[in-house]
Amino acid sequence: MNAVTQESTRQWQEADAQHFLHPFTDHAGLARKGARIITRAENIYLWDSEGNKILDAMSGLWCVNVGYGQQPLIDAATRQMKQLPFYNTFFQTSHPPAIELAELLAQVTPPQFQHVFFTGSGSEGNDTIVRMVRRYWDIKGQPARKVIISRLNGYHGSTMAGSSLSGMKGMHDQGGVIPDITHIEQPHWFELGRAHSREEFGLIAAGWLEAKILEVGPERVAAFIGEPVQGAGGVMVPPSTYWPEIQRICDKYGILLVSDEVICGFGRTGHWFGCETMGVKPDLMTIAKGITSGYVPLGGVMVGERVARALIDEGGEFNHGFTYSGHPVACAVALANIRLIQQLDLVRHVREDIGPYLAERFAELNDHPLVGEVQTCGMMGAVQLVKDKGASTLFPPDLEVGMLCRAHCFGNGLIMRAVGDRMIVAPPLVMTRAQVDEMMALVRRCLDLTLAELHQRGWL
Ligand code: PMP
Repeated sequence: MNAVTQESTRQWQEADAQHFLHPFTDHAGLARKGARIITRAENIYLWDSEGNKILDAMSGLWCVNVGYGQQPLIDAATRQMKQLPFYNTFFQTSHPPAIELAELLAQVTPPQFQHVFFTGSGSEGNDTIVRMVRRYWDIKGQPARKVIISRLNGYHGSTMAGSSLSGMKGMHDQGGVIPDITHIEQPHWFELGRAHSREEFGLIAAGWLEAKILEVGPERVAAFIGEPVQGAGGVMVPPSTYWPEIQRICDKYGILLVSDEVICGFGRTGHWFGCETMGVKPDLMTIAKGITSGYVPLGGVMVGERVARALIDEGGEFNHGFTYSGHPVACAVALANIRLIQQLDLVRHVREDIGPYLAERFAELNDHPLVGEVQTCGMMGAVQLVKDKGASTLFPPDLEVGMLCRAHCFGNGLIMRAVGDRMIVAPPLVMTRAQVDEMMALVRRCLDLTLAELHQRGWL
């Protein structure tokens, strides 16, 4: 079929079903239903092939921090494509966009970070972390330190190392596990800790790391990795005591601390990086998504001085890298994106204005009969749906109430994601208060429609 003539939604859907295997998708199910075809975007809105306007409360996939249609990013890509569309950074060569971006990243990241290793995605970033962390301990004469501890329900990507670090059963069951990676429970107060205050529970949950280190043997543990706020796991905002205690435990055993900033980085939590919001000082950070606002793919690892000095001064050649490590067009777009974030003062906007406003508006949802808990951090928010508000009873998972709610969102021009029965948003950082109001009106309407449907089905 000629792409130019595929004008109708049905034609697009047919061709899609015939040839395109989508990520994290039941292929047969999607083929029966037909994919939604997105054709255009501007600011915080998308349009589909039927002409429907949709408010994108997920920033694409947690990445379009500056919103769609930003001219400086488009111009940067165009200029760079003309000037030097590709050259590699292997074999002792470099180019201005990658150099300038490395320099700018050293400025906007916490002071321990003076070096970056570029990758093409967040998953490749975390693969790089696994190799780099193990290389570090080899250089330091402690090759037994191989084990990396991460958390159940954490998400760190879909490559072999990424899926192994992730704590997602569905991925592990399909063979996505490499050796010497082990998991602890997540700091999920609502499910695991309601017998305690949040602060007490934060210390208990961090203590699970120490217990795991002692079980594995401290001399075998290389690193701990976590997202400051678990994103794909359901926007789990940890108690304020959690991360400082994790830092204390890592320091006590000399273990490297890795902050996966793929979602939390570049302003989303109200600081440049989530580790700053949580008050910790990681040795390594994974970056991606918001680094280019998703306009083109780019990822990387920020390497703190502790690891960088070992790699540079004692390590010799590190046999690792990707064709697109430091891709010039991606770096040029990232430069334009970060400068725009600076120019628009977006990090402060999230911390002092729009983030607190989102928190205020989310808190109002507490009066809704379906809502058991709301949580926000910067421009991320979660609503836990419950069957019985008083007793905080959850729905049986097989009812898939979150998916019912998500269908109402889609049907009403709102992209809100469901993780089990937790409804989550991570909207563009450029949102105005009026746009937050518009989003919250849609959220409430969709909760009401879900409630009505649950009554109709006799599930409440
Ligand atoms: N880490 C985190 C925290 C993520 O949310 C994601 C993607 N959602 C990744 C890593 C993987 O990034 P990518 O999809 O770019 O490989």
